[in-house]
Amino acid sequence: MEKKKRTKVKNLELNDYVEGILQSKIPILARAITLVESNLQEHTKLAQELLSKVIPYSGNSIRIGITGSPGVGKSTFIEKLGLYLCDKGNKVAVLAVDPTSVVSKGSILGDKTRMEQLSKHPNAFIRPSPSGGALGGVGRKTRESIILCEAAGFNVIIVETVGVGQSEILVRSMVDLFALLILPGGGDELQGFKKGTVELADVIIINKADGENYHLAKVTMNEYKQALHYVSNATSGWEPKVLLASSLNGVGIEEFWNIVENFRKVTFESGVFQLRRREQVLDWFYSMVKETVLNSFFSNSKVSEMLQELEEKIFTGKISPSYAVQKLFEELNYEIIDGNK
Ligand code: GDP
Repeated sequence: MEKKKRTKVKNLELNDYVEGILQSKIPILARAITLVESNLQEHTKLAQELLSKVIPYSGNSIRIGITGSPGVGKSTFIEKLGLYLCDKGNKVAVLAVDPTSVVSKGSILGDKTRMEQLSKHPNAFIRPSPSGGALGGVGRKTRESIILCEAAGFNVIIVETVGVGQSEILVRSMVDLFALLILPGGGDELQGFKKGTVELADVIIINKADGENYHLAKVTMNEYKQALHYVSNATSGWEPKVLLASSLNGVGIEEFWNIVENFRKVTFESGVFQLRRREQVLDWFYSMVKETVLNSFFSNSKVSEMLQELEEKIFTGKISPSYAVQKLFEELNYEIIDGNK
């Protein structure tokens, strides 16, 4: 009993992680993702070493972002799509970016009971959203998880998020193709247009196009097709496609996949696919630089002391914010030059 317990919590060495991932061992992949999600310094170091080792084996996938309001049918759609792809011999990883879990403990996405059938499929791997920290941190963790999944042989990566502005922009910046799920109808305003989500989308799926909703779904599809003429393409050289789906009945899944395949072909041949991936790595690099600068700045005890002091002076009208900023940086420069330990 004792022995079993100890085996369970055995710490893995760098090589255990690397070999396990390259041999597609799911429990090791899951632990590696936990490692990149950890904020502990010793974990971060090991995670970075691991990533450098496996990065050469990553990239061989199509990365698909899927968004839509709660209840639109994202998990039903992803489950059907995932099962369809797994049965065709693909390996499908589903990751989530849940902006609600950043703000509160609650979560709209990422609970385990969703996609029950897919989660049991041997070719599928489902991971809920990393929790805690700012959205920037969640972004880094998700990007790193994508790399790990790819190195473990997953060739279709699906990143799911909900229709809340910032998280959609974040997910758009880490995927090749971005798809928006909407409901038939939805009043005078075309859903999605308000928030600018449509401008991010390569594919728009009108879900729940079944039963009484079928006719309305067709009307909605035509409205979107019209409206898209006035929106610039999210991907250069690719006109966004609109299709009907009934995830519940598995309708529209194959059509969606054909669109994805075509998207991959068109953008690969034009070089847009490769260019976007390169730009995304740079984007990732700069977000990390910013995150690191901000974190180290605000965790500096001298800074927080000064901030408190300056805040009070600003609040009581003794100094202006710009003067306070000047003061703060003067002081900081001094500290940086004198040894930022
Ligand atoms: P999510 O919150 O976007 O992940 O939405 P879910 O996938 O959990 O679906 C919300 C509800 O809509 C569930 O009760 C589903 O059974 C239902 N649903 C999903 N897709 C369809 C569809 O294509 N047609 C119909 N009629 N219902 C659907």
